[in-house]
Amino acid sequence: MRQLQYDIYSEKIILEDPKYWIDEDDIPKHIKDFFYKECDKFVLKDKETNNLYCPKCTQKLEKNFCENCQKNYLINIDLNEVNIKKLKKYKFNNYYFAFDVVDKEVIIYLINVFVTYDNPLTNNPFRSIYLRVENAYHVLKDCLINLKQKDKIYLFKEFDSNLLYEEYSFNYDLDFYLDCYDIAKVYTDNLDILKDTIYRYTNIWKAKDYLKDKNIYLSNLTYIPLYYSSFEYLIKKKFYSLAFDNLHLIKKDKDAKLLIKNYLDFMIENNFDYWKFRTLKLCKIKDMEMINYMEDTIEAYENVLNIKKMDVLKLYNYLKTNQNDIVEYYDYLRLANELGYDLKDKKVLYPKDLFNVHNEVFEKRSIIVNKECNKKIRKLAKTLNKNKYEDDKYLIKPAGSVKEMLDEGNMQNNCLSTYILDYSKNKTQIYLMRKKSNLKKSFVTIEVKNRKLIQARLKNNEIPDDEILNIINKWLKNIK
Ligand SMILES: [Zn+2]
Repeated sequence: MRQLQYDIYSEKIILEDPKYWIDEDDIPKHIKDFFYKECDKFVLKDKETNNLYCPKCTQKLEKNFCENCQKNYLINIDLNEVNIKKLKKYKFNNYYFAFDVVDKEVIIYLINVFVTYDNPLTNNPFRSIYLRVENAYHVLKDCLINLKQKDKIYLFKEFDSNLLYEEYSFNYDLDFYLDCYDIAKVYTDNLDILKDTIYRYTNIWKAKDYLKDKNIYLSNLTYIPLYYSSFEYLIKKKFYSLAFDNLHLIKKDKDAKLLIKNYLDFMIENNFDYWKFRTLKLCKIKDMEMINYMEDTIEAYENVLNIKKMDVLKLYNYLKTNQNDIVEYYDYLRLANELGYDLKDKKVLYPKDLFNVHNEVFEKRSIIVNKECNKKIRKLAKTLNKNKYEDDKYLIKPAGSVKEMLDEGNMQNNCLSTYILDYSKNKTQIYLMRKKSNLKKSFVTIEVKNRKLIQARLKNNEIPDDEILNIINKWLKNIK
């Protein structure tokens, strides 16, 4: 059997398999045809008139029908919004994963399907489709080899979500999670070829219908199925959403398995996703009202329990009866703990008036945040300024002083001031995203740890829309 070999010391591939797809010509015809056909799905919608146009010939559709192509279109969410008069300036990129097997070895490709209406041979908009093999990975049991870049190997080691960011920032084993952003739809028609490969136990081909038209991370097609035995179990139980949905973030597979074993029917019945799963893992109570109540802020509950082990049901009842917010409670507990309050004291742990005690610890803390701290922040901001981001509309810069953080906290109505001490010690990094049209007004407050986004919040801790999050995520890839 042919096998690729990677020399870990020289970081070079010793034995190279020449049989992987390099460009469009190498892609098998049936797969190419599938990609071309997929492009017909993306009906054009004129922004001005809301009229729909045929993605093949650019004729206007009448009742979703193209007279010219004699084709009826399904109008789904994949509409491409354009200015139809300027159609030639648009470029559409769609991405797909496709599996191939060579001598029982699995290769997974990332294919860029590139659509443009700017065909140099015509004056009128005319569709051209190009296929590009963006990436090719040889999938091995404990690593992926990027065949195109040749110099990169990703080891699959257990990801421990409870590790502090500082602890794993330079951990080579976790490069996979930090560097691998490939996300795409999957070509599912040939998944059966995986039956006689390292995928044989995963049963991934049974999820064919589930995978269709979904965007999936590369790790969820390689690392998750091969590394986690609960994947196979979940697939057999037809519990696809959980199988593909961040299973790796569940700290120990043993826990996950046990939870699945004990609660499977309950989870299927209530259409569990990863977040509900994570909530159940914490509370272990079959109570959907409680799970629905907690799931949006489950991270805050986890943080609270990291500070102080406590009865989740008691905590839930306390918060619910007093209409307290877990995020506010977490802020309070964190500071109370830092200030040396006795967390064993029930009055400290479950204060009657959370709002007031929250403000109390908050003020005590501000006194500690002294001039020294401001100096450190100014110095840190100078260093972080290299990560400054600017485009036509937005600016992202590091928080520059204690005052700036307090002002931001006030304008945003968030607890940024409680992050001042950590920021001054560079334990976490705070960036402020502003609209260039009004630089003095706060817009998005961003917390970053080791080049990873921890949170990005609008006023009142609301989550920004995808456009903003995309800008932030793109920017994060380039920061130092
Ligand atoms: Zn047409």
